Amino acid sequence: MAFDYDDANIFARILRGEIPCDKVAENDHALAFRDIRPQAPVHLLVIPKGRYVSLDDFATNASDAEIVAFTRLCAQICASEGVGLAEGNGGFRAVANAGPHGVQEVPHYHLHIMGGRVMGPMLA
Ligand code: 5GP
Repeated sequence: MAFDYDDANIFARILRGEIPCDKVAENDHALAFRDIRPQAPVHLLVIPKGRYVSLDDFATNASDAEIVAFTRLCAQICASEGVGLAEGNGGFRAVANAGPHGVQEVPHYHLHIMGGRVMGPMLA
């Protein structure tokens, strides 16, 4: 399947340094920052630095090194004191929206990681 990447999307602009973000952590292949409209006390977005539209694009086309780096960054931020997820061992919710049915707003793959409170049931 072909995935058409739009270089004008807001996360591409963050990666190019054209607009700021509240960065939490990064490595060679991935960046984690705080969501501008948080839905929970802790609401992070983890994005690959490569040009991937969605989870299925990333999982199909990213290199093993990119996938490992992305996953390791998720682990790092979930375990880091000060980010807000590790305290109290409360856990978190991770969500990836994709395409129109997933109601994906920004067409650059991102994983939402939310915590700091008990989440409600996933209904919508
Ligand atoms: P989606 O619906 O695509 O899964 O979620 C996109 C997320 O990106 C939303 O939660 C939205 O609040 C967040 N977002 C949109 N624009 C910006 C921005 O400029 N900066 C940051 N940090 N988050 C953004």
